[in-house]
Amino acid sequence: MSAILALCLTHLKAGDHVLCSRDVFGATVGLFQNTLQKFGVEVSFVPLTDSDKWREAAKPNTRMLFIETPSNPLNAVADVAAMAQIGRDIGAILAVDNCFCSPSLQTPLLLGADIVTHSATKYLDGQGRVLGGALVGSEELIAPVMAFNRSCGPTMSPFNAWVMLKGLETLDLRMRAHSENAQRLAEWLAEKSSVEAVHYCGLPDHPGHALATRQQQGFGGVLAFEVAGGREAAWQFINGTELMSLTANLGDAKTTIVHPASTTHGRLTPGQREAASISEGLVRIAVGLEDLEDLQSDCLRGFAALGR
Ligand SMILES: *Cc1c(COP(=O)(O)O)cnc(C)c1O
Repeated sequence: MSAILALCLTHLKAGDHVLCSRDVFGATVGLFQNTLQKFGVEVSFVPLTDSDKWREAAKPNTRMLFIETPSNPLNAVADVAAMAQIGRDIGAILAVDNCFCSPSLQTPLLLGADIVTHSATKYLDGQGRVLGGALVGSEELIAPVMAFNRSCGPTMSPFNAWVMLKGLETLDLRMRAHSENAQRLAEWLAEKSSVEAVHYCGLPDHPGHALATRQQQGFGGVLAFEVAGGREAAWQFINGTELMSLTANLGDAKTTIVHPASTTHGRLTPGQREAASISEGLVRIAVGLEDLEDLQSDCLRGFAALGR
């Protein structure tokens, strides 16, 4: 979040307008809607994959487009090159939160984005050890961020930076393993009769699959699925698992499981959740590096707790 804050405080000023995709990380919504609003920066939220809506919502003072792709938790995929074109047409920079893919699986700058943000807390470290973030872009855009950081202080301690750099050494291997595990678990879940839908951009029937195949080098480690029976069933499933950690973190070597409607998206109103397609029966799994069979066994414990 410090990385996104530094980006905004460096490249936006009072009177500017931001277009942000609706499905971004909850704290990012809060940053734009509450914190930056106090300083005169206006924001509009737009559906991630509807590029006509982005053009319609643009204003003469729009200075930044901010997107997260694939989105959390449904894996909606935005066309980064098309979004970059909209940015150029309206005179705004395109910032992409690349947390889900990491630089190993997606390089938005090569697709035309101006700035990339990362929660390094997730895959870059990869083992849930330290908090951190990163901003990547041209020297022209990043040098003023460095100046901002030097005077305002949102920087990492040297020890945390060292831990993070050790994590980076294995990023590519880990991302391939996360993606493979997630793909196989998604395919397996899709066959289960008590699963109503699986949302993973690696599945051929996912609406973002073709685009993800084109612009990503892998589909990542996060999947979501819907169990029949709503909130109660989702929690029975989650509480029935033993191996997976019940936490909203992701990008860890350990698999984590969460109920988006009551945690990551718990602050939204029921109407907002419905608009974002976060159903009560939705479960998100950030697939780790464990053996696939252990993850399947754990899911079977979840299904058993459902009585199915
Ligand atoms: C976790 C997360 C963030 C915020 O990262 P922190 O390291 O917790 O500040 C931002 N964007 C996405 C997509 C995330 O998942």
